[in-house]
Amino acid sequence: MPCHNEELKQKIKTLKARKNAVLLVHNYQRPEIQDVADHLGDSLGLSINATKTDADVIVFCGVDFMAESAKILNPSKIVVHPNAAAVCPMAAMVSAEDVRELLSTHPKAEAVAYVNTSADVKAEVDICCTSANAVKVVASLAAPEVIFVPDVNLGLYVKRFVSDKEFHFSSGYCHVHQGIMRSELEILKKAHPDAEILVHPECIPEVIDFANFVFSTEGMARHVKTSEASEFIVGTEKELCYRLENENPGKIFHRVDSALCPAMKQITLEDVLHSLESLTPRIELDHGIIEKAKRPLQRMIDLA
Ligand code: SF4
Repeated sequence: MPCHNEELKQKIKTLKARKNAVLLVHNYQRPEIQDVADHLGDSLGLSINATKTDADVIVFCGVDFMAESAKILNPSKIVVHPNAAAVCPMAAMVSAEDVRELLSTHPKAEAVAYVNTSADVKAEVDICCTSANAVKVVASLAAPEVIFVPDVNLGLYVKRFVSDKEFHFSSGYCHVHQGIMRSELEILKKAHPDAEILVHPECIPEVIDFANFVFSTEGMARHVKTSEASEFIVGTEKELCYRLENENPGKIFHRVDSALCPAMKQITLEDVLHSLESLTPRIELDHGIIEKAKRPLQRMIDLA
């Protein structure tokens, strides 16, 4: 299999150059997909990269909403999502209709959508956020009330820092982070007492309280480079540790074994190669939705 993978990686590299394509890869993708990335990162970093590329084709290795965001920000480019089955369950937990209902119930509120939402939902809100900038985005709003969709855990985390606003939530969550239990972290900490505990803000409040630091995946990647600690317990999807190990030789990363996102593992090297050969499956969005969804995404990027 490793030989087969090396052959596929070489073919991908050759085809990428021939098609003037760029490969944007999320931190939770399989290791062999991370190996072929032009840009590896979190939603915010990849969204920004998507606005800067000169490539004609964007191959987005992540879940559906990320590829949609790349298309919204680059409507004239071909955006391919190598496996249409890579769908984020949390993004499916809120609809455009849900947002319209919340806005009519709370007319004084501004609406914030986590980027983990469909293009239809983005089209209804005032601004988007990622886990890296959610506090900054909410704090920047003038309105006294905030509708925050769909992740309640992230919303509750933001609320700790923005206490002067009233929050209205929908009822979404990320099953991967919601499933990380304080008891698992306690066992890891007992086994590795010198390790720093880093967790993602999509984790439940009890886990946030137990951690030493709360970061987006990109924040974790930055932190471990400069931290004096040499061991870390990483409370997010476990594939991030592949990147952390590559970038920090000599440092040790302890995964939470249960933290695996099946949606993020749908894309294979074969899928990437096929996408480059056929330039399918493409992300196609209604022009009106692109126009409406671009505004809150761009407003977020302008704040970064
Ligand atoms: S890790 Fe959570 S938020 Fe990210 S794609 Fe998987 S289910 Fe969605």
